[in-house]
Amino acid sequence: MIKGKGRAACSGVTFGTILEIEAPKESSTLEDAFLPIDKELELFEKGLSIAAEELDLLEEKTRQEVGEEEAEILGIQRMMLDDPDISDAIRELIKGGTISAAKACLEVGIKNAREFEALDDDYMKARAADVKDVTSRISRAILGKNTIELTKPSVIVAEDLTPSQTVSFDRKLILGFVLRKGTMNSHASILARTMNIPSLINTELPKENLTGRTIAVDADKQEFILDPDQDVINEIINAKEKFYERQLQLLKLRGKETIAPCGHKIVTAANIGSPDDVEMALENDAEGIGLFRSEFLYIGKPTYPSEDEQYRAYAKVVSTMSPRPVIIRTLDIGADKKCDYFNLPNEENPALGLRAIRICLTQVEIFKTQLRALFRAAARGNLLVMFPMITSVEEVRRCKEICDEVAKELTEKNIEYKYPKLGIMIETPAAVLLADKLAKEVSFFSVGTNDLMQYTCAIDRQNQHLGAFYNPHHEALLIALEMIAKAAHDNNIFCGICGELGADPELTDKFIEMGFDELSVTPSSILPLRERVLKSSSQCKNPFNGTM
Ligand code: PEP
Ligand code: MG
Repeated sequence: MIKGKGRAACSGVTFGTILEIEAPKESSTLEDAFLPIDKELELFEKGLSIAAEELDLLEEKTRQEVGEEEAEILGIQRMMLDDPDISDAIRELIKGGTISAAKACLEVGIKNAREFEALDDDYMKARAADVKDVTSRISRAILGKNTIELTKPSVIVAEDLTPSQTVSFDRKLILGFVLRKGTMNSHASILARTMNIPSLINTELPKENLTGRTIAVDADKQEFILDPDQDVINEIINAKEKFYERQLQLLKLRGKETIAPCGHKIVTAANIGSPDDVEMALENDAEGIGLFRSEFLYIGKPTYPSEDEQYRAYAKVVSTMSPRPVIIRTLDIGADKKCDYFNLPNEENPALGLRAIRICLTQVEIFKTQLRALFRAAARGNLLVMFPMITSVEEVRRCKEICDEVAKELTEKNIEYKYPKLGIMIETPAAVLLADKLAKEVSFFSVGTNDLMQYTCAIDRQNQHLGAFYNPHHEALLIALEMIAKAAHDNNIFCGICGELGADPELTDKFIEMGFDELSVTPSSILPLRERVLKSSSQCKNPFNGTM
């Protein structure tokens, strides 16, 4: 039995069998730049065996859960992995020394697929898709980007997780997350909280592959126990019961309006990353959605989601939540939220790079596709659109111009839509300083404290070595928050917080005092937050006289 400490990224207790996830490799790339040939060959052999393991598992799962015929297709793909015509062709290409292992797999896949397509036999023609599928599986395995197929409930253990890895798991089968690294505001931690999955980060877990071993996690005590004995498991079961009792207590607050004793009303809203999260938002009686991180519709997909696919996702959230307001943030790709098919450049400082609204204003067609989907979904309920990472009035005006163009196009095509209210995230120091001017351009503000903290205090939210310097209650941030709320209300616009700080119980009183109108938090934090607001002894000093 090994006991160790960690930090709770999401509270709760759990135990189960470990599945250890490997980190995505940054060594091999899909570009032509590559490592020495022997290293690329080594990566290929490893990718090949990972792909084989995955296909063996998938074939078995499909046989049990779907049927023999479907399993056979995967069996054919598994045989392709052993086919020297394919693997030797990849090896030869790598040995040529001009291409990375990951890219060589894709090229051989495309070439072989063309050969299959050219055959007369329909059965052989159909194998073109299989060969492409199988070679791209090896390529993804080399890059460490394969979707992990969870076959049974597991506790996920990893050094760290990328956002795309975190969303790729079947959430019903995740019992917990235990990471050796990680930070509280990384998107992996935020997603874990959104899904309400007990999680520990910065743990002292042994640095070896732990797959198959058992782990007990008590995030509330900030500890884990590897290979627990029956006594520990019994303790965890007891702690789980206490946890559920507290949840039952909190559920009694459903249906209560969140008004502080001083009379200040706070909208307790939910942050979500997918339409599936709406269920949890409603279970926790969210008064609206304060942040739908729409980029998660893009992350983990092979290519851009179409306008219709996005429309369906937004319309589902908006109509299910109706008449409650739903703030959908436009694409915030970049920094840690990577999406291969955007083909973004490698950057020295991605958090300061081509990201979020900068991508949308550069690749306007991608932006317009999303806006069309949003405007159409707005006709289904109370949708508001929010732009991320704003740093200037000009950016907002350009966003509004593009919105006008989208509305005009939809009108001309006679497509049903509604022009939604527009707002912005305040998450850069520039936006704080310009808050008074920006407030004259939009209908609402929502403060992204995760990024605002990172940019105000020059503290990388992804860097786990900065814990000692990270003060979530930093005076500069609190002054910035006060300035933002004041600028919003001076201009009669609504102002919320959707960064993680919104759920910090030690700050609830301050937020009421500052006059924030909405706190948007992970669904499981809504009722504890409501409890705090109802008991608050604060006096709001900056009331809102406008309407949302
Ligand atoms: C933030 O920056 O506070 C925010 C809510 O956005 P994200 O965490 O997705 O960057
Ligand atoms: Mg942000």
